[in-house]
Amino acid sequence: MSQKTGRLFSRAILALSVVSALPVLLIGWHVLRVDNRVLQNEILDKQRTVAGQIASVLSEEISRKAQFFSVFTDLHTDFGGHPFIDKEDIDYLRIKNPEITHISVLNNKGRQLFYSSEESSRFSYASELDNILHACVAQGKDYVGSVNRVNGQLYALMAFPLRRHLRDVKITGVLVVEMNLATLGSALQESYPEDLFVAVTSADGSLISYSGAEGGLALEENLPLRARLQRWQQALDTRNGARLELPDGQAVLVSRAQVPVMRWTVYVQQPADTIRRLLLESTFHSLWDVLVILLVMIAFVLLTGYFVISPIVRPVRRLQEAAVKLEQEEDYMPQEQDLIIPRNEIGQLARVFLHMAQVLRDRKNALVCAQQELAGMNKELELRVQQRTAELKAATDELVKTERLAAIGQMASIISHEIRNPLAVISNATRLIKTIEPPKDAKLIKQFSIIEAEIKQANSIISEVLGFARSRDMILSTIDLNSYLHDLLLSFPASSGIRLQEKLDPESVHLKIDAEEMKQAVRNLISNACEAMQGQGTVTLGTRVGKKVVCIYVADEGPGVPDALKEKIFSPFFTTKARGTGLGLAVVRKAVGRHKGKMFIHNRATGGAVFEIYLTIYRKTGDTRYG
Ligand code: ADP
Repeated sequence: MSQKTGRLFSRAILALSVVSALPVLLIGWHVLRVDNRVLQNEILDKQRTVAGQIASVLSEEISRKAQFFSVFTDLHTDFGGHPFIDKEDIDYLRIKNPEITHISVLNNKGRQLFYSSEESSRFSYASELDNILHACVAQGKDYVGSVNRVNGQLYALMAFPLRRHLRDVKITGVLVVEMNLATLGSALQESYPEDLFVAVTSADGSLISYSGAEGGLALEENLPLRARLQRWQQALDTRNGARLELPDGQAVLVSRAQVPVMRWTVYVQQPADTIRRLLLESTFHSLWDVLVILLVMIAFVLLTGYFVISPIVRPVRRLQEAAVKLEQEEDYMPQEQDLIIPRNEIGQLARVFLHMAQVLRDRKNALVCAQQELAGMNKELELRVQQRTAELKAATDELVKTERLAAIGQMASIISHEIRNPLAVISNATRLIKTIEPPKDAKLIKQFSIIEAEIKQANSIISEVLGFARSRDMILSTIDLNSYLHDLLLSFPASSGIRLQEKLDPESVHLKIDAEEMKQAVRNLISNACEAMQGQGTVTLGTRVGKKVVCIYVADEGPGVPDALKEKIFSPFFTTKARGTGLGLAVVRKAVGRHKGKMFIHNRATGGAVFEIYLTIYRKTGDTRYG
C-alpha cells in the first residue's frame, strides 16, 4: 500500500526536479556558448596587450637611441666649444656604440662633410636624403628612416638636425646615423613571451625580428614565415585582432600593434586550439558549477517537495488505508481519529468519506434486516407450502383411496351377491337331500358337514365384504358406553380356550354413535385378538374416560403387531392369515373415521397388541358399573 501511495509522492518530486533542472541546464548551455565568444575576445585582447607591450619596448629602445644622438648633437652645439661636430667626435661616437656602423655629417644642403664608418663603400642614404632634409632641415625634427637589409643584416637609418646654438632656429647641418638592428633583435628576444609567437615587421613589410630566431635577427629567406606574414597583413588590414586560417591550414589567433615613430608592426600569434583547451578547462569548470547548482536545486526541490507534498499525500494515504480497511473488514467503521483532516479540500474529502461510510453502514444494516425478514418469510412460506402440499397429498391420497375403495366395494358387492345366490341354492339343496335321504354312512355325514361349514365360511366372507363395501348413512343414537360394551362382550361367541375380560372405567359416558357399525368394529378387534392368540389366552375389553374423549381398547396376549406392519394392516385386503380377507381392520378404521374418532395401536411390554379407539364424549353419566 505504501508503495502505491509513495508513487504519487515520487512522481511529484520527479516532475518538480525535471521542471527545476531544465532552466539550470538551459542557462548552463547558454553560459558555455557565451564563454566561447568571450574567451576568444579575451585571448585576442591579451595578445593585443602583449603586442602593445613589445611595440612600446621597441619604441622606447629607438627613442632612447634617438635621444642619445639628440643629446650628443646638443652637447656638441652648446658646450663642446667647437662650432661644429668634427670627424673625431663621430669616430668616438661610433666606437663607443658598437651597433652604430656609420655616421655622416651633412650640411643643410645635403652635402656630406665627413663621415665615420666600418665600411664606407656600402653606406648609402641617397635614397632617403630628401626625406632626411625635409624632416631635419625643413621641420627641425629627428628622422627615423626605413630598415635596409644588407648581407642578411638589418640596418636602420636615423638623422638628427644640427644647430650652431641651442636656441637657433636655423639648422646648419644633419647628423646621419646607421644602426645595426641585430642588437635590438637580441634585446627583443628577451621580452618575447614563451607561449606566443611574435614577429616585428618594418613599414615596407620586411621582417625585423621574430621569436625563436636565435642570435638576433634572422633575415634569411623563410618562405612559410613570409607566407604567414602576408596572410597576417592581408587579414589584419583594418582590424587589430582576428582568428585566421593560415595557408598550411592551421587556425590561429593573431593580434597586432603599431610601433610609434617607426611605423613598424608587432604581430602576436597563437594556435586557435588554445581557445578549445581553455574552453574545455572553463567548460569543465562551468559543468562542475552547473552540476553543483543542479544538485543544490534538486536537494532544494526535494526538501520543498517533501514539505509541500507531504501534507497532501499523508491525509490521502490515510484515506486510502481506511477505504481499503472498509472494503476488507466486515465490522470496520472509520472514525475521525483514523484520518488526518486538514482544513482544506482534502479535509472536506475525508469528511465526505466518513459520512459516506456511515451512510453505507446504515444502508447495509437496513439491507441485512430486510434480508433476515425475507429469509424468515421465505421459511414460513416454505413451511406453509410444505404443510399445504402434505395436506393436498393426504387429501389426494384419501380421494384416490376412497375412490379405489368405492370401486373395490362396488365390485365386491356385485360379486358377493352373485356368489351368495348359488351358495343359498347349494345350502338349500344339501338341506333337502339330508331331509329326503338322511345319510347313514359316516364318511357321507362328514362330507355333508364340510359342505355346510364351507358354505358358512363363504357366507361370512361375503358378509364381511358386503359390510366393508356397504356405504349407508349413519344411524346415530345415544348409548351408555359401559352398558353397550358389556352387552357386546356377552353376545360375543368366544371359543373354549379364550377368556374375555372387561376393564371398563367406572365413570361411564354417553356417546352418540351408529351403534351397529361401532359394534361390528369392536367385534372385529376382539375376533382378531382371539385369532392372534391362536385360541388360547385372555382378551381384555376396557375403557379410559378423559375430559372430552373416551378410549375404548382391546388388548390380547398374542405376538403383537410388528412395527413394519402397523400402518399396512389397516389397508383393505391386507392379511397375514391363510384364510383371511384383510377387511376386518379396514372396516374398523372406516367406522372410526365416520365417527370422527382416532385409532392407535401399540404392543404391550408383557406381549400382545393393544388397539385403541378414541371417540368424543357426548355426555358424562356417572358411575354405571356392570358385571
Ligand atoms: P384378517 O383378520 O382377515 O387377516 P384384518 O384386517 O382383521 O384381516 O387383519 C389384518 C391383519 O392384521 C391380520 O392378518 C393380522 O396379521 C393382523 N392383526 C390384526 N389383529 C391382530 C392382533 N390382535 N394381533 C396380531 N396381529 C393382528
